[in-house]
Amino acid sequence: MRNIPTYFILNCLLFTVSYALGQVSSTKILVIYSYDATFHIYQKSEKALYDVFPQSDNIIDIEFLDSKRYPNRQLNTSTYERIRIKQKEHRNYDIVIACNDNAFEFCLEHQATLFPEIPIVFWGVNDLEKAFEQDQNEWVTGIAENISLEKTLPLIQKLHPGRNNLQVITDSTTTAIADLKVFEKTISLFPNLNYEILNVSNYTREEYRRKIQQIPSNQIIFLLASYRLKDDYLSFDQIAKMLSTNSNSPIYYAYDIGDGGGYIAGTAISYYEQMYSACLIAKQILSGTTLQSIRVRSDVSSNSIIDYNLVKKFHLNPELIPESAIVLNDPNRKIEISKPEFYEISSIVAGVFVVLSLAIFFINLKRKKEKRYRVFAENYLNIFNENHSMMLLIDTKSQVIKNANKAAAKFYGYSQPQLKGLHFSELCQLPQIDLDAFFTQSEKQNSHFEQKHLLKNGQLKDVEIHSGKINIDKSIYIYAIVHDISKRIKAEQELIDAKRRAEESDRLKSSFLANMSHEIRTPMNSILGFSSLLEVDDIELSTRKEYIRHINNSGEHLLTLINDIIDLSKIEANQLKIYKTNCKINFLMDDLQIMIKRQLERAGKDVQMKLSKGIKNNSFNIKTDEVRLKQILINLLSNAIKFTESGDIEFGYKYREDSVLQFFVKDSGIGIHPDKQKDIFSAFKQVEEYSSRTYGGNGLGLSITKSLVEKLGGHIWVMSEPGQGSRFYFTIPAENNQLEL
Ligand code: ADP
Repeated sequence: MRNIPTYFILNCLLFTVSYALGQVSSTKILVIYSYDATFHIYQKSEKALYDVFPQSDNIIDIEFLDSKRYPNRQLNTSTYERIRIKQKEHRNYDIVIACNDNAFEFCLEHQATLFPEIPIVFWGVNDLEKAFEQDQNEWVTGIAENISLEKTLPLIQKLHPGRNNLQVITDSTTTAIADLKVFEKTISLFPNLNYEILNVSNYTREEYRRKIQQIPSNQIIFLLASYRLKDDYLSFDQIAKMLSTNSNSPIYYAYDIGDGGGYIAGTAISYYEQMYSACLIAKQILSGTTLQSIRVRSDVSSNSIIDYNLVKKFHLNPELIPESAIVLNDPNRKIEISKPEFYEISSIVAGVFVVLSLAIFFINLKRKKEKRYRVFAENYLNIFNENHSMMLLIDTKSQVIKNANKAAAKFYGYSQPQLKGLHFSELCQLPQIDLDAFFTQSEKQNSHFEQKHLLKNGQLKDVEIHSGKINIDKSIYIYAIVHDISKRIKAEQELIDAKRRAEESDRLKSSFLANMSHEIRTPMNSILGFSSLLEVDDIELSTRKEYIRHINNSGEHLLTLINDIIDLSKIEANQLKIYKTNCKINFLMDDLQIMIKRQLERAGKDVQMKLSKGIKNNSFNIKTDEVRLKQILINLLSNAIKFTESGDIEFGYKYREDSVLQFFVKDSGIGIHPDKQKDIFSAFKQVEEYSSRTYGGNGLGLSITKSLVEKLGGHIWVMSEPGQGSRFYFTIPAENNQLEL
């Protein structure tokens, strides 16, 4: 991975150089391969050629000598001719790249005639001697292929400790001859390794098969090459198959073992890497670097490549596998691939990984956000919907309700969907100008209003509204939290009324006390005054009687007043007691009639008296407080006498079907003004007006009468018109079990 940036930088540099140089005129490049287009070396290296020299900017010709299948250079002549014609018809090549030994030899052989002063760059040349000799050649340089026997042979020695016999398999191809030379030099460094050579070019396919079968299993096969048989040509895959199916020996290969195929180990040579390096040299030359400054080298890295499965199969110790080796099928290690491929794949994988990770990260982030928002939204919707406070969401522009919660629907008496379409003015019946002000104010800041809202059933309710602005989906809404304050307002109003009443009562009581003291003082003064006059001895008898009558009247008046005050204070303190007995109503009425008649006579009034008994039977009785009932009737009758100068006074009772006795006292007197009628039963009100009274009286009578009627379980009312007389009515329950109608 450390090399990835280097690889990228290299590519970038290459691109820059290409851009600077390559655009002027197309470079004409000839690539000569020793083998054919189906051979794995071509397939693995072709990409490197186009990576360095893109087809769009360069004219590239590729020739194949096909020397594996035509080992006697049968195709060389025609190749020569083709190149010659191509150069004759068009201009010469700018550079030649020779791949592997045969192509390298072809170029050297025809350098003078075909490639005069044309730079030749080679790679994959196994004849190291010849390769390095090219440092003397003015127009040739390149990379020798180090098959790293220095790596494979020590590996064999390591994995197979002890003395071992190697069966070296080779053929007569140029590369194999070159490799054998290297092998023979190298093997001398390993005294524990003996070897025999089997040149397969001397045998037919059949003979070769038998030869392999005869190799003892304790012998190690070391394969240099076996492409060319006496009668046949084997492809790369066929070689592997032939060896692995016919022998039981461990097989090592001088070259890249591909993806296994039966070889325990070999040398990982990257044809891509070699071609790539050669192309870079070619590029350097094309951009002006002299050939002499580029020395032939064999520094293309190569590692041992080992098939772990076969190490196990041949019971070799896996721990002896060198750290640097590329291990195929290793359960613990990863398969290594050529650096450029690795870098390329790594960068693509890393890129894809980064992009995918980022994409997944952002998608997850988005999903999480969306989920969070969804949960939030649901929560808030629940809070909105289930809240006990009534909530409305109103569109500011149209003033139409867009959402309303359950509490609001219940309060207004509409269903939620019905509320949703209503114009706000259908609830809040303010003039449009005030409605607009409500929206403007709420939009500006959180606000508080008190309004009257109309419910579906037509009821008007006092409500308090907390409102404010809220943005949803780029639209502006007003939220309104509505509280029903009608009970509060009513309670407040009652409190105000009660306060007013209390103040009024306070004022009236003060006024009452002031008046009462005056009321008491008047008869007292009269009593005291006339009593002192009586002290004089020589008063005439008639005058004396007159004084005594005044004293008596004032005394009676005082007594009535005191009784009334006592009754009133008892009523105020809720201390008035009712004592119910059987009361024969008709007898009571008769007594009253006698008493009233006497009063009328005394007053000297021209008034007719009439009594109506609802029930004729005199034994008719009810259970009630007779004394209080009599007091009520005396009060009413006294008033009737007082306010009637002439005419009639009628009183009596009737029995109602609802078991109630309804009494009445009618007179043809002065009557009562309607405005005054409501006040005559209020003690303190009456007393206040005492000073302006012309008929006398303390103004307590009707108030006490009303309280007594109510104490007896009934109620009292008056019907009167000024100048037309008055009719007082009151009821008491007829609690009678001995009624004989
Ligand atoms: P008062 O001692 O002043 O009569 P009441 O409580 O008995 O006190 O009556 C209150 C007031 O009601 C009277 O002052 C009078 O103005 C009016 N009133 C009562 N009875 C009659 C009636 N029969 N006809 C006309 N006015 C009446």
